[in-house]
Parts: sequence; structure tokens; C-alpha cells
Amino acid sequence: MSRPCPCTSKLTFDKCCEPFLMGKGIPESAEKLMRSRFTAYALNRVDYLVDTTASEKRGELDVEDLSRYCRAVTCISLKILSRQAGGPQDDAGVVIFHASLQINGKRMLHRERSTFRREDGRWFYVDGETN
Ligand SMILES: [Zn+2]
Repeated sequence: MSRPCPCTSKLTFDKCCEPFLMGKGIPESAEKLMRSRFTAYALNRVDYLVDTTASEKRGELDVEDLSRYCRAVTCISLKILSRQAGGPQDDAGVVIFHASLQINGKRMLHRERSTFRREDGRWFYVDGETN
């Protein structure tokens, strides 16, 4: 028995993002990493968000700020709109998604084009453009 995964994949948590958050597996695609990061936001796993950010970008993260954001946000659903590369044979990938969020009681739709890079077999989040 396991609850639905917070990334709204319709899979159960233990068959989706949980192994990644527990350090028992690594996402094989940029999309799976993206999903697991959405779940990390949902579950306030700032450590996972930091660990899956590209090394050169990690210094720009404000962990306090990220932690405040995670506590304030309710992650309602995630919709992947499109993806480019980002598979097990690729070294880079792009995922475009809509995240339905609620912050301080207000619903909002976050649209982002995220860029990912694979290094030593692991996917990392590089950056994102929002609009
Ligand atoms: Zn998931």
C-alpha cells in the first residue's frame, strides 16, 4: 500500500519518485528528475533540491529562501507539456511543464522551460525560464 505520488503521475509514490528522494535510485531521464524535484517541493525536501541542482548553480541557491518557499507552497499537480532529448542516451534535455500551485491561499499556474544536464550518469537541473 502506497499513496499516490505527489508528482501526479498516477503511479504510487513507491513506484515513482520515492526511490529517488530516498537515494535508492537515480532518475534515468530529465523528465523523471523534474518530477522528483516537483515532489521534493511538495514534501519540503530542500536537501534534494540542492543535490539535484547543477554544481555551478548550487552556490546561487538561497537555502533559507527555498525552505520558506517549500513551506508556503502547496504543489497541486504537474503537467509535462513537452520534452526535448533528456533520455538515458542524452547528455542534455529540456522539459516544458505547467505546475499548478497554491501559495498563501492563491492558486497559480507556474509555466517553466527547464534545462537539464547529465553528468556521470546523473541528471541535474541547470536552470529554467518562466513566463
Ligand atoms: Zn512521482
